[in-house]
Amino acid sequence: MKKVLVIRYGEIALKGLNRPQFESRLIKNIRRKVFKLGPCKVSCSQSRIYLESEIERYPYDEAAKLISEVFGIVSVSVTQCVPSEYEAISNAAVELARNAYDKKGLTTFKVETKRGNKHFPMQSPEVSMNIGGDILDAIPGITVDVQNPQFTVYIEIRERSYVYLDKIPGQCGMPLGTNGKALLLISGGIDSPVAGWMMARRGVELEALHFATPPYTGEAALEKVKNLCRHLCEYIDRIQLHVVSITDPMVEFAQVCPEEETILHMRRLMMMVSERICKDRGLQSIVTGENIGQVASQTMEAIAVTDNATEMPVFRPLIGMDKNDIIAIARKIGTFETSIQAHEDCCTVFVAKHPATRPHLDRIVASEQKVDMEKMVQYALDHHDIYDIRVEA
Ligand code: ATP
Ligand code: MG
Repeated sequence: MKKVLVIRYGEIALKGLNRPQFESRLIKNIRRKVFKLGPCKVSCSQSRIYLESEIERYPYDEAAKLISEVFGIVSVSVTQCVPSEYEAISNAAVELARNAYDKKGLTTFKVETKRGNKHFPMQSPEVSMNIGGDILDAIPGITVDVQNPQFTVYIEIRERSYVYLDKIPGQCGMPLGTNGKALLLISGGIDSPVAGWMMARRGVELEALHFATPPYTGEAALEKVKNLCRHLCEYIDRIQLHVVSITDPMVEFAQVCPEEETILHMRRLMMMVSERICKDRGLQSIVTGENIGQVASQTMEAIAVTDNATEMPVFRPLIGMDKNDIIAIARKIGTFETSIQAHEDCCTVFVAKHPATRPHLDRIVASEQKVDMEKMVQYALDHHDIYDIRVEA
């Protein structure tokens, strides 16, 4: 029997005039994701995407798993695809039910039918009832339980018909590449990779920027950030990782400015450098993992001081979340274990034990006059490497 993947998408179906654009982007992202599994055809019709392959042993289950990671997809099913004729549909349904009964020991079921093809001569409830009867006749020992079945046989009657048992949940969100491009400030911590994932799930393409302070921060810290980007590549394919050094500026701040202000100067410098890289690369916003009240540099006053250093929009998708919820996402997306490995960070190396929690913008800006910010930004841009991180083949 012929297999076809049925792929459902949600929100983008609502996008009116933009819809064809969203669909074609989603199809492109799906094709890219399953490229390595061999040739297949991906097509779109009536708010569904279908994937089928001429290859005899095409790994549909593996393809479904990969596709469930593509942003914009609500669910995926590996289906038996048959002509829209009662007998063919019934045979497929009986075969799937027999499989569930024999191989998984499942004994109660129901049938759910959706009829999109109004030329089909029976109505949905009638199809469900009749095919339920066929299954009962074919498999002694199986029973119907409409309230609480162990498995459901789904039947969708369209131009062709699709019969299946499972819906693998997707990530939802919007297709990557449909909502602009941003620069993710990535440290080595738990929060920033989650922030990046959340924006990417809304369709935002990302480049990443890490600030290092060699030799105070070393290869291990950099390797950790690269690993975090590799994890994100499971969802977004490819990340250009910018690594810039801010060692000299940090040493100068430490010498010239009050110790409790260092972190604010550093964060303002980060914003100024980010803005330059964004403008250079055609990126439209900055994304951080900041979270209100989590640490001294994330009080409302401190965030205001940071924000003031750039004209770019700065998005902080974690701002109102609880740490436990952030950790749950980090675990789900596979970054948590890497994030909690010990590492040295420019924040921990240079920052005071008791930073100012209620900074005044005027005072910080006045204190900034003691150094040459433009020269510091230039120092960072002169110590700039780019790594192309991709998902491993
Ligand atoms: P994270 O878990 O992401 O490290 P955090 O709770 O430790 O966040 P901070 O260290 O104050 O908070 O950093 C706040 C945000 O600033 C980070 O989420 C990240 O976006 C950015 N950031 C901090 N340090 C760096 C760095 N070395 N390079 C790039 N971005 C950084
Ligand atoms: Mg941190």
